[in-house]
Amino acid sequence: MPSTDAVVREIAAANRILAHFNVVDAYGHISRRDPENPKRFLLSRSKSPELVEPEDIMTFNLDGSVADGRKDKPYLERFIHAGIYEANPEIMSVVHSHALEVVPFSISTVPLVPMMHVASHCGAHMPVWDIADKFGDTGLLVTNLEQGRDLATKLAKNRVALMRGHGFAAAGQTIGEVLKISIYLPQNARVMMDAMRLGGGFKPLSAGEQAIRDADGPGGRELDRAMEYWAAKAGASHLLPPRK
Ligand SMILES: [Zn+2]
Repeated sequence: MPSTDAVVREIAAANRILAHFNVVDAYGHISRRDPENPKRFLLSRSKSPELVEPEDIMTFNLDGSVADGRKDKPYLERFIHAGIYEANPEIMSVVHSHALEVVPFSISTVPLVPMMHVASHCGAHMPVWDIADKFGDTGLLVTNLEQGRDLATKLAKNRVALMRGHGFAAAGQTIGEVLKISIYLPQNARVMMDAMRLGGGFKPLSAGEQAIRDADGPGGRELDRAMEYWAAKAGASHLLPPRK
């Protein structure tokens, strides 16, 4: 099991990576379940991901309350993470993003599906969660635990849930896996949109193709190579241990 210090540094690196690849901007976040206490999770204080440092990482309980006594301002939408960790014990890392490429599929009846091999880990089914179904008119943000739990119910055992008119939440077993899902999901949405513009039919990955790719474990083969590259591009290599 990695040390908490190593995990905190990895979370900071993951924030920089998501920002570098335009998955997040001023908003959006990534968390990791606490390696020392599965009933807690680690998430930055309210800060734009590109600017996150290890010392910004706070500890939260699964109800979204601050667990470490810090007085820093937390993210309003920390309940996305709280709800998903509470509902899914096997989930170790969660991303929330407003990536533009994904949003059209959250307001359309056309389902977003994996179209290319690098997006296979997004899963065959990406449900759309509409906050209005249960909560009526809101600011669309997930600002309490009841909303986070409702999102987690829609996500169920899938890896991605689109959030209507808002973005997506992705869940994985490692930070690397959820980074890979979150980086390639918007690219997959762009490719699918381009294929639809061509006007003919399109062919997503088959269930068998996804199963073969999943057989290499969370995030697929050579994920460590991608982590090394992503961190270098994002100027965050110093936050990760050297690759063996
Ligand atoms: Zn949001």
